[in-house]
Amino acid sequence: MADIIKLLPDHVANQIAAGEVVQRPASVVKELLENGIDAGAQTIQLICKDAGKTLIQVIDDGKGMSDTDAQMSFERHATSKITTAEDLFNLNTKGFRGEALASIAAVAHVLLKTKPKEAEIGTQLEVEGSKVIAQEACVTPTGTAIAVKNLFFNIPARRNFLKSNNVELRHIIDEFQRVALAHPSIAMSMYHNDNELFHLPRGGYKQRIVSIFGGKTQEKLVPVQEETDILTIEGFVVKPEFSKKTRGEQFFFVNDRFIKNAYLNHAVSAAFDGLLPERTRASYFLYLTVDPKSIDINIHPTKTEIKFDDEHALYAILRATIKHSLGQFNIAPVLDFDRDATLDTPYHYKNKDAQVPKVAVDRHFNPFETVSPPKKGAQLPKHEKESVVGWERLYEGLQSKNKETSGVSNVTYESEATTKALFEEGGLTAISVKTAMEGQEDAFAKAESTTYQLHKKYIVTTIKSGMVIIDQHRAHQRVLYEELLRNITIKESVSQQLLFPLLLNYNTAELALLLQLKEGLENTGFAFGNMEGEQVEVTGIPVSISEAEVPIVLEQLLSDLEHEVPEVGFSQTDSLAKSMAKSMAVKAGEPLNDLAREHLVNRLFACKEPSVSPANRKTFITLSGDELDRKFK
Ligand code: ADP
Ligand code: MG
Repeated sequence: MADIIKLLPDHVANQIAAGEVVQRPASVVKELLENGIDAGAQTIQLICKDAGKTLIQVIDDGKGMSDTDAQMSFERHATSKITTAEDLFNLNTKGFRGEALASIAAVAHVLLKTKPKEAEIGTQLEVEGSKVIAQEACVTPTGTAIAVKNLFFNIPARRNFLKSNNVELRHIIDEFQRVALAHPSIAMSMYHNDNELFHLPRGGYKQRIVSIFGGKTQEKLVPVQEETDILTIEGFVVKPEFSKKTRGEQFFFVNDRFIKNAYLNHAVSAAFDGLLPERTRASYFLYLTVDPKSIDINIHPTKTEIKFDDEHALYAILRATIKHSLGQFNIAPVLDFDRDATLDTPYHYKNKDAQVPKVAVDRHFNPFETVSPPKKGAQLPKHEKESVVGWERLYEGLQSKNKETSGVSNVTYESEATTKALFEEGGLTAISVKTAMEGQEDAFAKAESTTYQLHKKYIVTTIKSGMVIIDQHRAHQRVLYEELLRNITIKESVSQQLLFPLLLNYNTAELALLLQLKEGLENTGFAFGNMEGEQVEVTGIPVSISEAEVPIVLEQLLSDLEHEVPEVGFSQTDSLAKSMAKSMAVKAGEPLNDLAREHLVNRLFACKEPSVSPANRKTFITLSGDELDRKFK
């Protein structure tokens, strides 16, 4: 047999390697920014066109390269940063593999201009698909400017695989922010299609966080600081009341490198235990410094994962430090043995206004009069009628309270006489599972209710063939989703104008996203005034939500769509409707009164696709009479 193994030509090997290093424009951004930092730059500029698909340019004022180095830098495994394997354990630079430029040059058109300080004149180098096309002397300031054009020009499959500009831009912004947060002493700016998205002057950590996430961030930060033998911690956590619904701003940096680490994230959450409002996550910007020998950053090509020697110790220190900071700034409840914890206001009641209790007084009540409870529909003398109404009202409060706290636990089963045929045709009172209070109320004029709430989560009702159990949250999502879709498509929703516009703060990336969604949002009933700087003025809102819900709905929307906002058209409308339906729908745990339950059931079954939620999960299950019979065998 003839020999068949051969070495791959360099440009093919580079293209394959590029697959690991360069997944999308954001990967190029990360590598180029990091090279600028490794070169000791004081100022770095990032310029992108069309979310990096057309152009990614990084200009630094670092140490530059000689003309030979400039040529060498595009070779695979060409690096000035390590010489032996041992150096890997003593790494102070971002890069070390010498693969980035070679990989990028394999899949794009690259133009490099560079000049070291001591040289009078610089070098310009043009590389296309790993081939040097031109090299000449040029006039250029000290430092390096590198332009990467037409990414994946020679791999159409990968180019087609890129997401919409919004998504790719979002990834670029993420990388830019991570690098910028880790290096506040370097002035950084970012332009996209000639708009300046970020302008970050030199400063400390706090200033950098504030210039990225907006002026309002300042008052939300609690400083964290600790120095031990194995680790130094610096940075900030965000006060619990400003924690975010779904996506906290969670940033860990180890030795100035952004990392993700679920275990350490857990340590932070543990420190916040009991302080966060329901369903929110802690936000933090934490900078850890450890001995480079105690970590292994070499386990992942894109280097956001990291292995520590002693994770358990780090966990304990981190948790204790953050707990201490929260305590020092009076954020954690102080230990007080004399205080009765049951008197504490639950978090979600904290900001609610106290409600004036409703009192119904029966002006005609006479303890010496003996009036038996009147029969349904019976004619009563005028004053008695009023007294009955008062009597009923008194029960109203009790009744709903009873239901809220009872679930199904204090259900009573009525006697034979009232328990009419199970699954009767037309099924009006199919199962007479009623609370004691409902029984009372029945004596009066109210229509019999045929829906029940189970564990404040499910609605139980009957149909001809048996019984339906509806998931209230999913069902409501379906209803709202179809309604929103309709409104957005026919553009005919009703908006309530706010007397005082609502001012909400967003950072640059969020604002960019909101602007993209503006039209769709307006079709649901939102109206916007000024949208600039860091502030958005909301002047009108859909009738179906309250003013207090607006920040929550928008927050959810931004978090749902930040990585996947489709450009335009149906899929944007669809994502918008899905996200809004999710945040507006009643949640599990919310008590629903008779009317709300009935309304929801009716609206659900009037939907086009009542059986699944917008996320394609079951909204209800049925249990037929036969199935029940079988269960009782
Ligand atoms: P690595 O960063 O892993 O060493 P790269 O492919 O990113 O590999 O870069 C190769 C080499 O080119 C670097 O080691 C460095 O010497 C040089 N280099 C790259 N970018 C710059 C820059 N912006 N300024 C100065 N030197 C650079
Ligand atoms: Mg590098």
